[in-house]
Amino acid sequence: MEETRQDRDAQGGEKVEVTVPAAALVIRHARCPNGCLLMSPEVPIGGHPSIHVRVRQGGREGDVYLDPAYGSFNHRSDIEIAEGSVVSFSCPQCGVSLEEPDRFCGTCSAPLFVMHLPRGGRIEGCTRKGCFAHRLEVIDLGAQLLRLFEETQMDEYL
Ligand SMILES: [Zn+2]
Ligand SMILES: [Zn+2]
Repeated sequence: MEETRQDRDAQGGEKVEVTVPAAALVIRHARCPNGCLLMSPEVPIGGHPSIHVRVRQGGREGDVYLDPAYGSFNHRSDIEIAEGSVVSFSCPQCGVSLEEPDRFCGTCSAPLFVMHLPRGGRIEGCTRKGCFAHRLEVIDLGAQLLRLFEETQMDEYL
């Protein structure tokens, strides 16, 4: 099932949220806020380059590789993270935090991390292990909205 919702944000701009079937789409160009490409071909998951982030929790730090299939919660990690604990995410290349100020999970209130996609898209996720409230938010689609649902076009946003 596909579902779309359209509303206006505070600035009056058009905002479109897309809910997609789990694992139907693969993120290919996730970047940190400074523009570093986070994709890791060296550590594929499900046959696709994973999304590499640096994770800190309780004074420990490690590398985590997320499944690029949107909606999948598979990942590989070199540190043990207790279920239910909140971690901090940063870019493994430039070190910038991936957390967004004033953005919190609607399910558990932990901070959200954000990754940037081509053409103004963003993907958000909860920093609490085991919560995994993920959301794909595609902004500024303009006239291309109608083409969004053709798979080949959708790929350009991921
Ligand atoms: Zn970076
Ligand atoms: Zn959460």
